Amino acid sequence: MSLDPSDWQRFRELSHKALDDMVDFLSSVRERPVWIKAPEDVREAFCAPLPDKPTPFEEVLGDFERLMKPYANGNLHPLFMGWVHGAGTPYGMVAEMLAAGLNSNCGGRDHIAIEVERQITRWMAEAFGFPSTASGLFVTGTSTANFLALVVAREAWGGPSGVRANGLVETGRQLVAYTSTEAHNCVAKAMELAGIGSRHLRRIETDHSRRMRLDALQTAIQADRAAGHCPFLIMGTAGSVNTGATDDLNGLADVAEREDLWFHVDGAFGALCALSDRIRPRVLGLERAKSIAFDFHKWLHVPYDAGFLIVRDGTAHKRAFASEAAYLSRAAEGLAAGEPWPCDLGLDLSRGFRALKTWVTMKVFGRERLAAAMEENCRLAERLAAKAARTGLFEVVAPVALNIVCLSANADPHGALNEKIILDLQVTGLAAPSLTFLDERPVIRCAIFNHRTTDQDIDAFVGMLEASARRLGRS
Ligand SMILES: *Cc1c(COP(=O)(O)O)cnc(C)c1O
Repeated sequence: MSLDPSDWQRFRELSHKALDDMVDFLSSVRERPVWIKAPEDVREAFCAPLPDKPTPFEEVLGDFERLMKPYANGNLHPLFMGWVHGAGTPYGMVAEMLAAGLNSNCGGRDHIAIEVERQITRWMAEAFGFPSTASGLFVTGTSTANFLALVVAREAWGGPSGVRANGLVETGRQLVAYTSTEAHNCVAKAMELAGIGSRHLRRIETDHSRRMRLDALQTAIQADRAAGHCPFLIMGTAGSVNTGATDDLNGLADVAEREDLWFHVDGAFGALCALSDRIRPRVLGLERAKSIAFDFHKWLHVPYDAGFLIVRDGTAHKRAFASEAAYLSRAAEGLAAGEPWPCDLGLDLSRGFRALKTWVTMKVFGRERLAAAMEENCRLAERLAAKAARTGLFEVVAPVALNIVCLSANADPHGALNEKIILDLQVTGLAAPSLTFLDERPVIRCAIFNHRTTDQDIDAFVGMLEASARRLGRS
């Protein structure tokens, strides 16, 4: 019994209307609050039991309009500055729909979606200065990409008959990895998931620019070797989640070469600086990484989700994940041809066509326009920092390395006012900065990732900060 519409014409009309409504929504994003908390009655609608019977498509679309659209994440809005969120594009949205239409399974086999993913890998290899033999894989996000990279590094250390088959215990060695105190928490999770343990991740202190201290790194490696441990991996950061700081990647690469360690870079958003002639110098040394994890869904605005792992040595990548199964037999011809398959490069077997929305985004805009949007965000961050400082009410509490500005209200040595200001702006729907802690002090974090944000938005935002600080500072 087919699940296709019985009335294709009616389906066509409703679908066109849904698209029209979404185009209206996207083109009017500024007219709405950044964020509206979903009221209780709306939440209750999602407590209804599993539907036994059909609901007309029109009614289902109506539910989406009424119950979901108004209460979304807010990251489309030019004054959303919370966390590190991409803003999406209308083109990416249409591409996502087309990909869903094809409904390709991109785990492998010989079909065109796999070629598109390979082209993205070649494009990014070109952008990062990696060889054309590098291998790449779409994943959900950088958290997963970092984990996969860690597994590749572990297998490269363990050799062909290493950890995959025998487990870590049989190696008789304690693996240790190095990252900075500013690294994303997914790095520690990756150590946990890989069975090595987050306790064996050395979190190296940073300098005044929040970059990993090379002398401290060197000392830690020596101490670990002296204790009989087995250093295998340095995880550098290009664009830290807190402040946008980038480690001295050339320095880390030198240490990794000297010590014979795998050098991976978490470049969730910062790695994409490589696409811009102007901000590429801020991630110098990235080209020396053995692997890079990054997200197309953040600073390139590909609709969620579109994380990516690229590995310089495609053979090492495959060695970490390829495995045989009767039902995944390969052939020289036919649908089962075309090795390697993406399932040889990661954990997922069934996977969607994430490459299409990425390919469409890169084709529609081209490298230069995407780079210009990132450069503009960096310029706006500097404007925000300067204007906020000029109010006399705020202090810029971390260097503005890229597009993230961390502020603290002057009248607020402990950060309680900072927390109040953030909440005030969020719940009024005016803007959405987010809370983070620098040296254990709560600060206002403004991450400018939105391609829609303008000078006027930044100036208006400073006005909001100022008004909020004055009002709440009194109470
Ligand atoms: C966002 C981010 C991550 C996690 O990436 P996801 O795509 O959210 O899984 C890791 N590292 C840094 C520096 C990030 O900004």
